[in-house]
Amino acid sequence: MTSQTSRWSVTVLTLFPEMFPGSVGHSLAGKARSDGLWSLETIDIRAFAHDVHGTVDDTPFGGGPGMVMRADVVDAALQSVPDDDRPRIYLSPRGKLLTQQYVRELADGSGAVILCGRYEGIDHRVTLARGLEEVSIGDYVLSGGEPAAEVLIDACVRLLPGVIGDARSLQEESFERGLLEYPHYTRPQTWGGLDVPAVLRSGHHARVAEWRRAQAEELTRLRRPDLWARYGGTRKREGL
Ligand code: SAM
Repeated sequence: MTSQTSRWSVTVLTLFPEMFPGSVGHSLAGKARSDGLWSLETIDIRAFAHDVHGTVDDTPFGGGPGMVMRADVVDAALQSVPDDDRPRIYLSPRGKLLTQQYVRELADGSGAVILCGRYEGIDHRVTLARGLEEVSIGDYVLSGGEPAAEVLIDACVRLLPGVIGDARSLQEESFERGLLEYPHYTRPQTWGGLDVPAVLRSGHHARVAEWRRAQAEELTRLRRPDLWARYGGTRKREGL
């Protein structure tokens, strides 16, 4: 179901439309969808097969194992989506890595058209001919693009205005300032022999902020040398 009144709309092309909305039909994303803050439409690629058997794949030229999604079928499904300014994304382990920065760019736009692959993926000519953006959610191989589509949609939807009640919780999150987020604590104050750090109970906002920044920096330095190096470069450029 598409609601063209939603500011952010996503169209997913898939061989398994019944997998959607899946996880994005629940909790924050699900409520935001019911509230009309975003909309989801699925297109069944198999409906564009040319034969009575609904064939969507064929053997790869050059030989080798597996099957490839046919260019004519996939392209017909893509062409059924009216042209608009939404990026056309093909989810693929060979794509550029999905980062928070790219998620923010997508969330700031009007939505996305997302093509989910299966088997060995789609015939490469469709990617070339239709200028699809190849996007990967990580360096591992899923059996299909559908879980990756849910990841991408979830990450974008939570950034849409009005989806998260207190927008401040987005500002301090991991990646937003080039750092991983600091650790969180709640009640009980002592648990498993471990106390909540005293500074968090001090009520001293400046000291809490300082402690959290130091924790975020230390975690990033230890766990993500790649982010840490970039963060150091940014601070140097900003003269900090
Ligand atoms: N033969 C492909 C390769 O080695 O790069 C893997 C194909 S995979 C079994 C089938 C489909 O799952 C892909 O076409 C893609 O849509 C999706 N997929 C798998 N891993 C993914 C990832 N890390 N990110 C995004 N999509 C992925």
